[in-house]
Amino acid sequence: FFITFEGGEGAGKSTQIGRLAESLRADGREVIVTREPGGSPGAEAVRHVLLSGAAEPFGQSMEAILFAAARSDHVEQVIRPAIERGADVLCDRFLDSSRVYQGVTGDLDPAFMRNLERVAINGMLPDLTVILDIDPEEGLRRAGARRSAEEAPDRFEKETLAIHRRRRKAFLEIAKAEPGRCVVVDASLEPDRVATSVLKAARGAIAG
Ligand code: C5P
Repeated sequence: FFITFEGGEGAGKSTQIGRLAESLRADGREVIVTREPGGSPGAEAVRHVLLSGAAEPFGQSMEAILFAAARSDHVEQVIRPAIERGADVLCDRFLDSSRVYQGVTGDLDPAFMRNLERVAINGMLPDLTVILDIDPEEGLRRAGARRSAEEAPDRFEKETLAIHRRRRKAFLEIAKAEPGRCVVVDASLEPDRVATSVLKAARGAIAG
């Protein structure tokens, strides 16, 4: 089963992925946890270029193509082989992050974005996408608290609240347009309650 997690900064994606991995492993399933941009050696190299801002001077379509290149490598080197041998793959961000970050707030042409998406995923559509929904102010507060202990903000985190609000709306619109694939979970609740909702959605999808 291929499950992706999406949402804005500080929504708790990595915590919830860890929790779900634990629960599915306890069910006796093989679980691979991965993330984007990155997840394979080639894609991690591209992640570094993207998050450092090194590609920024070359424009948004260049960046979108780099995200797609990284995704293609990640799909073919890691995700598809795992799915083919029957493992579950839990991925922190995937195609919806590109639709939202590059397509909506990056203002790129929808047809261009659709073409890139098709090439990047090459048929590997998630079986389930969990959208962790949180008010951006709360999410940024959480991300800031986490970061002061760890690392400097990456270039995407230093953006205006208005942009983060547009992204939240865009994720919710995707969920509305693709209810068969997407489930929205209120990420402002206690982590335990969020984990319970996520596990229920995952078990429902796995049971088909
Ligand atoms: O998941 P995480 O928040 O660590 O993602 C790293 C950064 O990359 C984020 O700040 C996110 O805004 C950005 N990103 C992006 N486009 C994507 C995926 C991630 O701008 N397709």
